[in-house]
Amino acid sequence: MSAFSCRLAGLILLTLVIALSGGSSAYASEPPLTVLDEPSIELENFPIEYVVTEPGEAFAQVRSKQYTHYESRLALGTDAKSVWLRFRLHNSLANAREVFVHFPEAYHNRAVGFYEVRGGQLTNTAEIDLNHATESPYMVREQAVYATEIGAGETITLYVHSWSYSHQWFEVQVYDEAHSRDALAGTMLDIALMVGILLALIIFNFLLYISARSLDNVFYALYLISGALWIALSYGLLGNMLGLFGEVALQFHLSLMTMAIFLILFMTAVFDTRKSFPREHKVLLFLLVILVADLIYGLFDMVAALSYASSIAALMIVLTLSVGISIWRKGHPLAKFFLLGHSFFFIFNALAVLYYKSILDFSYITKHGVGIGIMLEALMLAFIVAYRIKMLEQIKASEQRLRIEAQTDSLTLLHNRRYFYRRANELLEKARAQSVPMAVLAIDIDDFKQVNDHFGHQVGDQVLVKLAELLRTSCRSNDVVARFGGEEFVVLLYRTSLSSAEAIAQTLRLACKEMQVNLSESQELSITVSIGVAEVDLNISSIELALHDADTALYQAKGGGRDRVVVYGESPELEMTTESN
Ligand code: GH3
Ligand code: MG
Ligand code: MG
Repeated sequence: MSAFSCRLAGLILLTLVIALSGGSSAYASEPPLTVLDEPSIELENFPIEYVVTEPGEAFAQVRSKQYTHYESRLALGTDAKSVWLRFRLHNSLANAREVFVHFPEAYHNRAVGFYEVRGGQLTNTAEIDLNHATESPYMVREQAVYATEIGAGETITLYVHSWSYSHQWFEVQVYDEAHSRDALAGTMLDIALMVGILLALIIFNFLLYISARSLDNVFYALYLISGALWIALSYGLLGNMLGLFGEVALQFHLSLMTMAIFLILFMTAVFDTRKSFPREHKVLLFLLVILVADLIYGLFDMVAALSYASSIAALMIVLTLSVGISIWRKGHPLAKFFLLGHSFFFIFNALAVLYYKSILDFSYITKHGVGIGIMLEALMLAFIVAYRIKMLEQIKASEQRLRIEAQTDSLTLLHNRRYFYRRANELLEKARAQSVPMAVLAIDIDDFKQVNDHFGHQVGDQVLVKLAELLRTSCRSNDVVARFGGEEFVVLLYRTSLSSAEAIAQTLRLACKEMQVNLSESQELSITVSIGVAEVDLNISSIELALHDADTALYQAKGGGRDRVVVYGESPELEMTTESN
């Protein structure tokens, strides 16, 4: 290579290096540029650059910092409390344009600022202190909106300052007037729907509590209230509808902790962990203590309490899932539904956290992950509540069945001795209070052994069933008919004098005598009964005493030749006259 060509090559290289280094430094010093070359303006995802600063830093300091390229949807986690971003807009049309810069997530910030630079000079600033948001002309419901004009062929630089309380995730959008109006009108419908569904569930559960008095409905409703509040807070509905911003809105983050607390209380109630799963119960109590501690801490210093929230949330997810799995493995029928709901909660929250920490990109799901997770879990828990009501109904029905079985004679389906005493004593109290007479009948089938001996036990049973039916249909609803054992029956006659009781006994005796039990087409069997009648003396008598008297009379009826009625206290000679055919 000649000396000339060597020099030329050196020169070219030098020019290239200068050009490259000059070019790159010029590029780095200018914020990303978006050219507005169409009549309509709708920038929702456009290039910006950002820098994380100390909260108090002045604009002059911030301007000269090193920025990082990014897009206008930003999530920087909890460490980036104060973020500045900037971008340039160039109007390439022949007329001046009005642009509207939107900052939709202003509601959860401490402050938002817009700084406008033209020709290197700061020409306008708009600072919004969210503690006085309602006084700011730049707040449109929950959003911050800054309007400015760009002349024909002009380029402006805009800086936006976002100073948040806890975590940093937001978007910046640029619109023309029509799109700005649309964006302001169309927000919040989805969030209002989520909150609306939760509200409906809340009301439904309070109604359930009124009817069922079950504590799990209360815990569930309180969990839902917390979830609805947190969704309304985090996605701007509280600011949008109630104008709550700044420190006041910040306090509503307590709902994040109460939501967890009530979810755990719901678990203890619905799985009855205290009695049925003591080990799991201890784990839940441990979590409760931590959550309540953070809640109390939050009452004094919300920002500090929130800084522990993600660690506590992670611990809570791990422990509650473990408890759910453990209860499921021990066979609780509702645990699998809880696990499913809780897994939804976990998955969608994980997506949201990964977005907040800027690991995942912006999408509707990553941005609304926590809300979607809460919704899905809430619906699954609603299913658990409904399923549990069904389970409790089944338990109640089987208890009812057992109770009826415990007081019923299985062969004749009459009441048994146990029920008779309970009911008879109740009626005795009532009769005493109302001073109405009562009587008892002791009824025994005559020579029943012979029925069994001649026709077999099965026919004997048939006779017992038929007689029971006759006694049941012959007595009034206030009377008590019971099988006392074997072929002995007892009837308590309410509001009945001794003489009426005797007449009733005679009617029954005759009815029994007329009763036919079909053995075959040609063969029928009839029986007779003996009946002892006794009055229940309301002043001195107990049911046992009256039954004893009726038994004595029955014994006399048997001794007197059977198929007859004997009234206790009347002479056996007289009783013989009561015999009839
Ligand atoms: P009495 O006129 O003195 O009452 O004579 P009885 O044969 O009826 O007297 P007893 O009390 O000695 O006999 C009652 C019989 O009732 C004895 C038993 O075999 C029969 N028995 C008791 N319970 C049942 C039952 O559930 N089914 C049948 N088929 N028979 C029963
Ligand atoms: Mg008998
Ligand atoms: Mg007997």
